[in-house]
Amino acid sequence: MGPFSLPDAASILSPRPYIGKERVFHEPTEHGRWWLTMPRRPNTPCKHPGCGRLVPYGEAYCEEHRPLHAHDTKTTTEKGYGRRWQKARTAFLHAHPLCARCQTKGQLVKATVVDHIIPHRGDPELFWDTDNWQPLCKRCHDQKTMTEDRYQEFRY
Ligand SMILES: [Zn+2]
Ligand SMILES: [Zn+2]
Repeated sequence: MGPFSLPDAASILSPRPYIGKERVFHEPTEHGRWWLTMPRRPNTPCKHPGCGRLVPYGEAYCEEHRPLHAHDTKTTTEKGYGRRWQKARTAFLHAHPLCARCQTKGQLVKATVVDHIIPHRGDPELFWDTDNWQPLCKRCHDQKTMTEDRYQEFRY
């Protein structure tokens, strides 16, 4: 490698160290790239009202209160199509990073929403048809939802 080696995709996408549950991703050093065992994070208080018992970093509730909150520790990605949709939309926005509507007006705006061109209203075929997807910025999406869809965005 020459003196001007390009940063790889990971360091472009995550300018700050990526902190996973167990590992910290550090900037490349002269020795290469390192995954290090995450330094111990301080414990955090249980979120149950009035409890405050210290629990390991990353846990929301103590042993006693965790069962009471089982429903809200489940993220949307763990429900139904959530995970598949999250992956699909992330990949789509990577491939189509610019808002399609703004682009027709000659504006380059980062897309943050995958919009269904024909509102799918819960129809899985329309929902998963990538020909029916377009990248939009939040503003254009909100505008479209207000003027065209007239129905609440269906969410998985
Ligand atoms: Zn507690
Ligand atoms: Zn836009």
